[in-house]
Order: sequence, then C-alpha cells, then structure tokens
Amino acid sequence: MKTEDSTIVILIGPPGCGKGTQGEILSEKLGNITISTGNLLRDEMKSQTSLGKKLRTTMCTGKLVDDQIVLNLLKAKILTEICSDGFILDGFPRNIKQANELEELLDTLRKSFKLVAIDVSVSDKKIINRIVNRYYCTECKTNYNKLYKNPIKKNICDVCGSEGKFAVREDDTEEIVRKRLKEYNKQTAPVISYYKKKGVLLKVNGDEAVDKVSHEIDSKLKKILTY
Ligand code: ADP
Ligand code: ZN
Repeated sequence: MKTEDSTIVILIGPPGCGKGTQGEILSEKLGNITISTGNLLRDEMKSQTSLGKKLRTTMCTGKLVDDQIVLNLLKAKILTEICSDGFILDGFPRNIKQANELEELLDTLRKSFKLVAIDVSVSDKKIINRIVNRYYCTECKTNYNKLYKNPIKKNICDVCGSEGKFAVREDDTEEIVRKRLKEYNKQTAPVISYYKKKGVLLKVNGDEAVDKVSHEIDSKLKKILTY
C-alpha cells in the first residue's frame, strides 16, 4: 500500500530562467532536496569516463542528453537520497517522453506523490544577458551573476565558504545558449502544456528579480500546499 502524498515540485523554464536559484530557495523552505539533472550530468562529465566524455560532446552542442542516461542518473539519485518527503526537480522532465517516464518511476515507489509544475517564463533577451554573466561555485553549485549576485565577501562562496572555487559552465556561451533555447522551444515547451492539461501547472514571471520571483512562487504554492 502507498502512504500519503509527498510533493514533487517540477521547475520548468528556458536556460537562464532562474530554475536553479529558485530551486535552492524552495529547498530551504520546503526542507526538500533539489535534484538538478544538469548538475548530475556535469558531475558525471568530470569523472573522465567514456560516458563523461560523451556527455561533454552532447552538452557543448546544446542538445539534450539521451533520455535513458538521464533517467538512470535520476533514479540512482532518488534511490540513494532521502526523497521520501518529496523533492524538487530542476531540469527534468525536458521532453514528453521524460514526463511519462517520471510518472512510471513514481508509480514504482511505495509513496504516492502530488506533482506541481512551475513554469518560469522569461524573455529571450534577458536569457542571453543573464547566462553570459553567470558563474558558479564548483564546491556547492550555488549560482552567481556578475550583474546582480556576487558573493558578499570577494572570492568566497556565501553558502559553503570555499575560496576561489568559482567557474563558468562550458555551455554558457552565447552561441551554445541559442542552441539550448532552440532545443527548449522544440522539446521542453510541450511539457508545459502536458502539465497544464493535468491541471497541475503554476505560471510565474521569471523576468523579475530573484526575490520577486520567489515571492510569486511562494504565494502560488501556498494556495495548494502547506509548508
Ligand atoms: P539550463 O537549464 O540552463 O540549460 P541545465 O544545467 O539544466 O541548464 O542543463 C544543461 C544541459 O544538460 C542541457 O543543455 C542538456 O544537454 C543536459 N540536460 C540536463 N537535463 C537534461 C534532461 N532532463 N534530459 C536531457 N538532457 C539534459
Ligand atoms: Zn559554495
């Protein structure tokens, strides 16, 4: 028998819409972990295995990675972490096939989950500007931005305290972002309609500043969840 509902929040939006940042904020509020398939893939990429090398080639062309590879990494993460109270997904599902696979995966777990999808929309112009200015802490994966979010103490990560561990993602160039955007519009945008049809979609305006977006997410989520 399945026990009562835990919540899975799915963050959907184009590259640079702020899903990663909002995922971190929501994690704190809900007390759940955020699983970023992009981070799982980048960790695998670092491992220098043949899979890692293959991933680098795909990700640096802005294309989606093979569904089965992503699904396997996601499954492993869900099974090893404490995800029974629910979790937040950043970057998955990214096409309709993955949305179906997520449901199949959840069906195999002993809990029943309530799904909420949040569409974080952003104009293309903002996307490029945000992405070419962003960098992150390689230790804890916190995102920063040269324009509006630098660490409080120069060169020291606000979250984990690491010094000088900042880097820029290899796929955060204007040329690759344009390709990622194309891929998003073709493959991921239909996932928004998929969740809308299921009646589990919330929409927020990702053009706004981080605090404003998180406030909008909070007020919309609180209408359907208690936390
Ligand atoms: P962004 O949303 O800014 O593009 P991510 O870190 O979520 O950044 O994704 C980076 C890249 O990782 C994608 O361009 C894609 O190649 C790969 N990726 C991440 N999640 C998935 C997924 N669910 N399915 C296929 N590829 C993925
Ligand atoms: Zn850090």
